[in-house]
Amino acid sequence: QEGGAQSEFSSSIQVAVRVRPLNPRERDEGLRACVNFDEETRQVVLSAVDKNTLLQLRGATAKGYAFDRRYGQDVTSDAIYDDCVAQLVEAVFKGYNATVLAYGQTGSGKTHTMAGGAGIHGVVEQGITPRVIQHIFALAEAIRKKEKPGEKTQIAAYGLELYNEDLRDLALAGGRDESAKGWDGKGGNPSALKLQERPVGKEGRVVPEVVGVTERVVSSAEELTNFFNQCVDNRSTSSTKLNDRSSRSHAIFTITIQRTIVEVLNELGSDLKAKVRTSEFTSKLHLVDLAGSERVKRSGVTGKELKEATHINSGLLALGNVIVALAGEDRGAEGSAKKETPGVEKKKAHVPYRDSKLTRLLQDSLGGNSLTVLISCISPSEADFEETNNTLKYANRAC
Ligand code: ADP
Ligand code: MG
Repeated sequence: QEGGAQSEFSSSIQVAVRVRPLNPRERDEGLRACVNFDEETRQVVLSAVDKNTLLQLRGATAKGYAFDRRYGQDVTSDAIYDDCVAQLVEAVFKGYNATVLAYGQTGSGKTHTMAGGAGIHGVVEQGITPRVIQHIFALAEAIRKKEKPGEKTQIAAYGLELYNEDLRDLALAGGRDESAKGWDGKGGNPSALKLQERPVGKEGRVVPEVVGVTERVVSSAEELTNFFNQCVDNRSTSSTKLNDRSSRSHAIFTITIQRTIVEVLNELGSDLKAKVRTSEFTSKLHLVDLAGSERVKRSGVTGKELKEATHINSGLLALGNVIVALAGEDRGAEGSAKKETPGVEKKKAHVPYRDSKLTRLLQDSLGGNSLTVLISCISPSEADFEETNNTLKYANRAC
């Protein structure tokens, strides 16, 4: 089996590559796989297989990029969960924010990875989100058994779709209906939700908040799973292959965990009862099924559709730039200890969160004190060589 379990979490951003199996259509067309894993170098190697293909690829030759985590077509979403997502869920209970992102061209397996479904071989596979939900409730139940009076753990969730820089509430049916009154398709929809940034603390930190989004407080895994499924159903799915709306929007499912913790201090208060200190925190786990990363030229779009594509590209571009800046900080932190001059504050890299709504929305859950896993989904087909190469290039910048 390709791609093993690599358990340690060495930096705040982890980049994984997942290749899906060839599908029946690709097999019927006689298309071959062009993706190989080199276990020794940890590289994902793309190779063009014949002269004709090579011409189509405009001179592309075998290309390899190294990644920490590589998942072959036989690796299940369950195994991927155990390998790189479970740790994020545990961290969220300790107060960290975390984000799981699925990136890749349409048809590469993003939704299969995040939500699950009947796969290419007709084997229904549970996605990462249902696994997250089960894990969260298992942990919450264990915690609740040990809670002291005054302690509390509350779990809630909301679903958002980001389309043309418009935020929509996925808890609402028809929330993305283009025939809805006022929808002009240009980002001017009056039913779009507002993103607000609330400053907290002294360090210039801001917490993004979506005003008026339906946040559902849930008390069981079943209830949360139903809510997730409702959000998935409400994500618009208007037809035509490449212009499928759902492939043009980002879907963001966010689970929040709010805990109240009571510490008993080993000291008596004036009323002869032990002193207690109560603290509260809320942490977030974002599960993001990103818009298709395919290039505009491929679908040959114009006008309104070109505008859509432009928006999507700017969101993915901004995300890429943020991740690169954060990965740079990570590396800087490792090597900088010796060089540090006392009294001189270390210069922080500029992280361009402000360049898109996607990155503004995720700003307190990417990098810094939070954990991020980017799962880059790719097609094995030689016909997708260029897009696969683009995806690997994008993901490789973050390594
Ligand atoms: P995307 O969301 O990136 O557009 P999908 O998740 O819808 O792509 O995947 C496209 C098709 O391939 C779906 O029919 C899906 O079930 C199937 N598929 C994707 N990844 C896998 C996988 N790892 N194993 C089996 N089938 C897969
Ligand atoms: Mg999808």
